[in-house]
Amino acid sequence: CRPPACHYSAGAIPEPCSQPEVHYDKLFINNQWEDAASGKTFPTINPATGEVICQVAEADVELETLDNGKPYAMSYTMDLPTVVKCFRYHAGWADKWEGKTIPIDGDYFCYTRHEPIGVCGQIIPWNFPLLMQAWKLAPALATGNTVVMKVAEQTPLTALYVASLIKEVGFPEGVVNILPGMGPSAGAALARHMDVDKLAFTGSTEVGHLIQQASGSSNLKKVTLELGGKSPNIILSDANMEDAVEQAHFGLFFSQGQCCCAGSRIFVQADIYDEFVERSVERARRRVVGNPFDLKTEQGPQVDQEQFNKILGYISSGKREGAKLMCGGGVAADRGYFIQPTVFGDVQDNMTIAREEIFGPVMQIMKFKTLEEVVTRANDTKYGLAAGVFTKDIDKASYVSNGLRAGTVWVNCYDVFASQAPFGGYKSSGNGREMGEYGLDNYTEVKTVIVRIR
Ligand code: NAD
Repeated sequence: CRPPACHYSAGAIPEPCSQPEVHYDKLFINNQWEDAASGKTFPTINPATGEVICQVAEADVELETLDNGKPYAMSYTMDLPTVVKCFRYHAGWADKWEGKTIPIDGDYFCYTRHEPIGVCGQIIPWNFPLLMQAWKLAPALATGNTVVMKVAEQTPLTALYVASLIKEVGFPEGVVNILPGMGPSAGAALARHMDVDKLAFTGSTEVGHLIQQASGSSNLKKVTLELGGKSPNIILSDANMEDAVEQAHFGLFFSQGQCCCAGSRIFVQADIYDEFVERSVERARRRVVGNPFDLKTEQGPQVDQEQFNKILGYISSGKREGAKLMCGGGVAADRGYFIQPTVFGDVQDNMTIAREEIFGPVMQIMKFKTLEEVVTRANDTKYGLAAGVFTKDIDKASYVSNGLRAGTVWVNCYDVFASQAPFGGYKSSGNGREMGEYGLDNYTEVKTVIVRIR
């Protein structure tokens, strides 16, 4: 559960190709590449340069870095292996989702069948394009559903490349359909479509509300939502300081801070607060920001101009509302969407930066005294996606993890994901779970069959 090494020496992973060729630029429907009925296309941008890569077209290897801006070393050593494990894990489930026989009164034989829901609409975001595609496709297919997936307009390239593999390995036509497109048009159409039986969405809480409403005003399709967060990460005074600093750094800055479960409210117990802040600032200053294809790079650009502007706006609000800017706070390059790793100290619970999802490389550190106090404050949010707690004391770890209203609690680690373990949110962070056996339940209908025994 340790964060990966920061730097990769040449030869440790394959050389990146910073200008991969782009081959696929169309909608993937019934195993065919189709133009949009309207004939419209849209550009996808390289966030490291701000230049247009192509008018939604497709490519070759390692596209994820080109389209999203995440460091190549991260794409290769974290995203890709997790994607492969996700598909392998769910492939194992395909012949194992079984019903039950249930004893009931009378001369009857009662059993359940777990059947596919049918057509699953799936809408995914741009922060982990390949991984979000895997998290949605794998359980849907393992349980026998068909899929119409709308990928994020910022990052369509890897999803379309996977579509080409789907065709190559011989999926029947129409089982998987991949539609790059805009949210308010293509995404909304999917959410209200009468022939879509289930909608799985990952993205902002605002759009989650719209998806839920669209289901309610159409066919009451089943909805699962994986939404935003403002996750607390709680550092107790007995924690291993070096480890806690590094894990908290990783838990916030991973993926340029563009992570739904980013540990963005870091509560530090008063007697170690100063040392923790000092070490966190020193670590943030050492963070290597730059060309995502450089193997030394830890942090690439934000995904687009909109997110870039939004994050800079939050930094301004932090300064305005009186938080103490300890490092960073500005733009990190003269082109592309790079932001300096930023740390705010003395953050108060009511500040905007402590309440709203920033989705960027901006860390908030706050002070607490007692366990009771920190659990109450950590839960004082509309979100409930994830949380962390660092301590050597198992009783304290249990007290805090039991008290937190969050779908996942990491103890002495952060951002550890497994295909076997469910992930999802309490409160406005979503509903339903993805991954593991719990996740499969969201892709099946349960049919009860009662047979009279003569
Ligand atoms: P978003 O929710 O707008 O987009 C996510 C997906 O939903 C995209 O595919 C988008 O095209 C689609 N979409 C947008 N409007 C839609 C609509 N009306 N109907 C159906 N689908 C629609 O997220 P964003 O604009 O890309 O980012 C905004 C904020 O959302 C971020 O700053 C961040 O706070 C949050 N976010 C969270 C996650 C997550 O993993 N939980 C991922 C991405 C973004």
